[in-house]
Amino acid sequence: MSEGKKRVVVIGSGPAGLTAALYTARAQLPTTVITGPLLGGQIATTHEVENYPGFPDGTTGPELVEAMRAQAERFGTEFVYDSVARAQLTEGLPFRIETQGGETHEADAVIVTIGANPRALGIPGEAEYVGHGVSYCATCDGFFFRGKDVVVVGGGDSALQEALFLTRFANRVDIIHRRDELRASVALQTRAMAHEKIHFIWDTVVDEIRANGSGAVHEILTRNLKSGEQQERPVDGVFIFIGYDPNSDVFEGQLATDEAGYVLIDQRYRSNIEGVFAAGEIHDQIFRQAITAAGDGCAAALTAIDWLDSDDFPGAG
Ligand code: NAP
Repeated sequence: MSEGKKRVVVIGSGPAGLTAALYTARAQLPTTVITGPLLGGQIATTHEVENYPGFPDGTTGPELVEAMRAQAERFGTEFVYDSVARAQLTEGLPFRIETQGGETHEADAVIVTIGANPRALGIPGEAEYVGHGVSYCATCDGFFFRGKDVVVVGGGDSALQEALFLTRFANRVDIIHRRDELRASVALQTRAMAHEKIHFIWDTVVDEIRANGSGAVHEILTRNLKSGEQQERPVDGVFIFIGYDPNSDVFEGQLATDEAGYVLIDQRYRSNIEGVFAAGEIHDQIFRQAITAAGDGCAAALTAIDWLDSDDFPGAG
């Protein structure tokens, strides 16, 4: 890294992180991205991406990630293919980020874009058939279920909102909920219950997801929690919305979060710690799109650049 320049470390390499790095590196700030376990994050596991602007014929998650990585690298971004083990953010500058591999990276500004993971049911067939009928994103995959029968697991706002979205494509959407009372808002409940394509299966969990000979989901095994009765149900797709876990544990006690662990930021993407910014799903539990994360990354980077340049930066002027 060039000496004397203020350094930026971006934690996370999804669309938010790669966009933030593009902006800070292009602003001539030495920038390091600590990628996390998977370069690109969740979008890297999405087969087809049809709603990222600029690709009239669509693209794939891996292609989109590679294009973003190459663009950030073109302006000098360095990539560390490792995960953060510890961060020292509260003892003044420079911030210190230690990776699991034992490297320490110092920074004058940190942009946290470490994302959130959809919760998994942890049942047989779930992990095996992701992308072959199991999905955690209706906006990403709903289009591939035109005229098909799908189930949605969950009873919160996400489950109902995504079930309503899926009615645009699917022939039938069954919502499987483990209780007989929904957690979702009354407005969403009213809309879902009134929809002719949506049906509810109460007090029920999914025990197993099964695929046919060609590896595509074709059946689930459900269990009624009150009667204990198990039932095989033919389905083409299983959409799971049982909540998300933001990856903020590594910053516990330093970054302020809400009760669920989402990092709290102000309108300019500033966290409670001066010089530390956050973007993407680590703070956003509403939109969760690659394009909104990328926009967030840009905004956080612009604030970081301003801050490093301003009289507020310790030692400035
Ligand atoms: P959530 O509110 O935590 O709901 C998760 C749902 O999944 C609950 O119904 C829960 O059942 C069920 N569940 C959890 N673990 C399960 C398991 N192992 N097996 C079966 N079911 C399980 O999560 P969310 O719907 O993602 O919403 C998260 C936050 O984002 C909420 O604050 C929500 O209001 C907000 N959000 C808002 C909007 C909107 O404004 N339109 C859209 C999406 C999300 P129980 O009910 O029995 O616990």
